[in-house]
Amino acid sequence: PESKLPGLGTTIFTQMSALAQQHKAINLSQGFPDFDGPDYLQQRLAYHVANGANQYAPMTGAQPLREAIADKTTELYGYQPDANTEITVTAGATEALYAAITALVRTGDEVICFDPSYDSYAPAIELSGGVVKRVALQPPHFRPDWQAFAALLSDKTRLVILNTPHNPSATVWQQADFAALWQAIAEREIYVLSDEVYEHICFADAGHASVLAHPQLRERAIAVSSFGKTFHMTGWKVGYCVAPAAISAELRKVHQFLTFAVNTPAQLAIADMLRNQPEHYRELPDFYRARRDMFINALSASRLEILPCEGTYFLLADYSAISDLDDVSFCQWLTKEVGVAAIPLSVFCADPFPHRLIRLCFAKQEATLLAAAERLNSL
Ligand code: PMP
Ligand code: GLN
Repeated sequence: PESKLPGLGTTIFTQMSALAQQHKAINLSQGFPDFDGPDYLQQRLAYHVANGANQYAPMTGAQPLREAIADKTTELYGYQPDANTEITVTAGATEALYAAITALVRTGDEVICFDPSYDSYAPAIELSGGVVKRVALQPPHFRPDWQAFAALLSDKTRLVILNTPHNPSATVWQQADFAALWQAIAEREIYVLSDEVYEHICFADAGHASVLAHPQLRERAIAVSSFGKTFHMTGWKVGYCVAPAAISAELRKVHQFLTFAVNTPAQLAIADMLRNQPEHYRELPDFYRARRDMFINALSASRLEILPCEGTYFLLADYSAISDLDDVSFCQWLTKEVGVAAIPLSVFCADPFPHRLIRLCFAKQEATLLAAAERLNSL
């Protein structure tokens, strides 16, 4: 058939993980932990499977989970969303993003993204007939240029998509960034899709700034999160979005025909986890900060230049002192010849990205990180 997405292959994560496997490289490319999530979560999953929670969940999400998400949101961001009308459980953040974009973007609408941007946004926008407009973020700080942003606004602008903590740059937005965004769009009817899947992996002193903490922006925002990151279970594919009732109603129209409902026992197990072991997500910044610092320390003898890491479980490294190769070729070489797989940054940018940066995932056991560092230090 004539392709609706010509030029698009499989994702860089699929490609690099396959290459890592083929060459038996240490896989620091695709973002997933090489350790398991909490025992309690696993036990609760087994419990719910054994106790009959094996049929369809409600379309909007299991009630106990929506209520636990509402309470967590109140605790963290000072805003209590209505569990019945404002929270929708989805099959990972990927589905939430797709449903939100499909619900909001009409043919010819323009959507502003900040490049480097996560790979799922643009194809979803294009499948809805939307047009992607891009603001380039520059290393090392990847701060939005609000003048460049304002220059992209038009009567066709329908949606802005942001991501904080940011994959792949590992930088975070502050409240001032949300204030600047509000100032830029207040007078226009523009929605905001805030990808906050790493909300609990934030190392900034001020903590994670959520769009849900901004009283005006949250009136037109969809905040997206994922339990895959929070509970070290990326394969469970349970995420959610929080949005005002009118927006949630539109999003649910799409969700009910994308997946209808999400895995029932996993939802109930996650609800138990949020209720009974909230210390898990409260302690997550310390858990990942220790891994980050250990990995950076192990790389101190390397010629890689490590960029600041304020959030996510990714570290950016500049390899200019090691090689003149472009980042895609460098990552292939690194996987095949050195035995460490990483992600090139240019693939997250539509325009040429003239930097020599790779992304390394540190959601790994200490032994994995030390073995990778030893190989990287030899370069
Ligand atoms: N957004 C970002 C920025 C991500 O990094 C990821 C996954 N790593 C997702 C969305 C998708 O999350 P999920 O696996 O829950 O679909
Ligand atoms: N989001 C993960 C990452 O950034 C990958 C998810 C996927 O493989 N689609 O590595």
